[in-house]
Amino acid sequence: MLQSTGFYSPAWADIASLWYATTKGEYAPERNALVRVWQPEFDVILRQAMEEHGAFVLAWLDDVAKTIKRRHHVNISQICRYYEYFLLTRLYAQADTRKMWLDSFLKHREQTYICGFCGKEQLCVEIHPSHLRRFGVRPCVCRACHQAMRNHPGLNAGALKRLQELMAHVSEPRECVCCGSSFSLEKDAFTTGPYYPCRYSLYFVNLYANVCGDCYHRAYMDNRPQGDEPRDIHLTSLQEFSRVFHREPQLDVEKDIAGLEDLSAMGTLFALYRHFRSVEGYEREFGTLDNAFERAGCPAATGERPEASDAD
Ligand SMILES: [Zn+2]
Ligand SMILES: [Zn+2]
Repeated sequence: MLQSTGFYSPAWADIASLWYATTKGEYAPERNALVRVWQPEFDVILRQAMEEHGAFVLAWLDDVAKTIKRRHHVNISQICRYYEYFLLTRLYAQADTRKMWLDSFLKHREQTYICGFCGKEQLCVEIHPSHLRRFGVRPCVCRACHQAMRNHPGLNAGALKRLQELMAHVSEPRECVCCGSSFSLEKDAFTTGPYYPCRYSLYFVNLYANVCGDCYHRAYMDNRPQGDEPRDIHLTSLQEFSRVFHREPQLDVEKDIAGLEDLSAMGTLFALYRHFRSVEGYEREFGTLDNAFERAGCPAATGERPEASDAD
């Protein structure tokens, strides 16, 4: 029974082995400091939390610490960084609270809820504690969908529909339109570009084209080692960009996404960015950026681009 993954099983952090009570390692000094100030009244507060929340008590241990601080002026979270381990170990070591925990875990371990956004059925015992605190044991949306929607507050109805579709199939393999590799987006709810603020997360890009994490990051960063790929491809990509988009690239992927008239060109944009250097990179390879544009035959460099086109 204790094999179950998830935050609320006594197997979590190996609490059931009671290792934390006897370990002599790095955890011992803080644990001992907490043992020295622990009072029987604290056990009453801890027990009440178990009675109220059962196996989900982990999500509420912060409240236990706050109550102890308020009533007894002892700040257990400051005394012991891993006070959660301490509290859980205490709950599991005592027969009555252990029974409450196990009974509650058995009752809930197969309980599921359905996310109102992606429609997937998920185990309640796998809800992240911070999400559970906020939305309860049967949240209206799963944590990944909640995060995805929070990352993209301004989506119009069409894009929201695409996001919903993406979340519903987030763990399915996709083929990257840039490099052809197979990938899934399951663990990428928080993946964004390296600069803050990042307007377009990996999920946003994938609303319009299958672009893997590597190709996404590559578009944001120019960290190509010297001689990583032939210089020619850096020029032919510029050439191809101006042929497709009738302008030269800004060499800033966020600006170029913002400039797309049709987001269905997202895949083409990232495929080209795969072989772009940064401005500094082009300067290193071709002396100046203008020189690179000229050699690539871009319209601005060859004087064919009308001046007013910035205002288009
Ligand atoms: Zn969901
Ligand atoms: Zn790729």
